[in-house]
Amino acid sequence: MKRRIDTKAVHSGDPRPRLQGSIVTPIFQTAMYEYNNENRYPNRYIRLNNTPNQLFLNEKLSALEEAEAAMVMTSGMAAISTTLFSVLAPGGHLLCQEALYGGTYDLLTKDFADFGLSYDLIDATKPSSWKDKLKSNTKAIYVESVTNPLMQVADHKAVVEFAKSHGLVSIIDSTFSSPINFRPVQIGYDLVLHSCTKYLNGHSDIVAGAVIGKAELVEKISHKLNHFGSTLDPHAAFLLNRGLKTLAVRVRQQNQTALKLAQFLEQHPALAKVYYPGLESHPQHQIARELFDGFGGMLSFELKNGEEATKRLLERLEIPTVAPSLGGVESLIIRPSVTSHSGLTPQERHRAGISDWLLRLSVGLEAAEDLIEDFSQALV
Ligand SMILES: *Cc1c(COP(=O)(O)O)cnc(C)c1O
Repeated sequence: MKRRIDTKAVHSGDPRPRLQGSIVTPIFQTAMYEYNNENRYPNRYIRLNNTPNQLFLNEKLSALEEAEAAMVMTSGMAAISTTLFSVLAPGGHLLCQEALYGGTYDLLTKDFADFGLSYDLIDATKPSSWKDKLKSNTKAIYVESVTNPLMQVADHKAVVEFAKSHGLVSIIDSTFSSPINFRPVQIGYDLVLHSCTKYLNGHSDIVAGAVIGKAELVEKISHKLNHFGSTLDPHAAFLLNRGLKTLAVRVRQQNQTALKLAQFLEQHPALAKVYYPGLESHPQHQIARELFDGFGGMLSFELKNGEEATKRLLERLEIPTVAPSLGGVESLIIRPSVTSHSGLTPQERHRAGISDWLLRLSVGLEAAEDLIEDFSQALV
């Protein structure tokens, strides 16, 4: 029977019949496994990502994304770099969205050339501009489901179509959406990447990543991964599996709270601009409405009175903690210009539309009313 995503988050991947009747799947804290008839070469070994806690998770993740295969690994960056090296090498060229996660942007700008790889940036909201950037060695197109920190939404259907018509692998970092809000494989993406550190684990206590999608591509990536060695430890795999069980309720609650907060902020006289795909004022609101089941727990905004008002707000806020990262149960707020996007030059930031005093908020699971009251008292 086809199960709904909430049920899959709780049960998919966990072994049936239950091991020793155990309701919670135990941690297989063993690096090596006996070599016997059922367990042939390549043997089970943690680095090879073929031990029970890893396999259970792979199955749950492919069920959630409705994909053929999945592979967990040590971090979101491990998933991104291993995937790109596998898909592009040797000598490949990548088309990728302008506003990328900082680590991904650094991988392209600082490491790609060392490995004979190249890239061009595209405006992912303007499909007509992409063809000019194609090269004979272009192998893939890479976007994020919702970008950081301005919450831009690419023309995802056009990305998939473009990839199909030019023989490219379509890759999406869907960290900001999670499979609760968007399942990119359903619209034709080949590979979906996650920093499981964020929503999928959801408790800000481990680092993990995953690549999910076409079995043939995931298999190819797994061979590189075996040599690069970015394996997820069984204990972290256990915690990620536990976090995933509550994914649906967490993300839906965060969607609701973020929308209420975005609406509150948008009408507040101290605010100059609010960026949230769930607001009708958002330039890609229609695409988000069409493709997403929820608009996410991330939003950003600018105050009218720049420096002074922003500093005062950060001092006065009692609930959100000033800290990077996202997707956990606690609300976190940062200034991208001095944190996630401090690696860009002021001109690059300006071109990307990221003002010096922009704030980005990851909405947690505190009561929406408490967060609104807190912003209300802090925005004086
Ligand atoms: C955090 C993040 C990453 C990197 O993930 P790590 O788990 O920290 O390696 C990649 N992409 C996005 C969109 C992220 O938010």
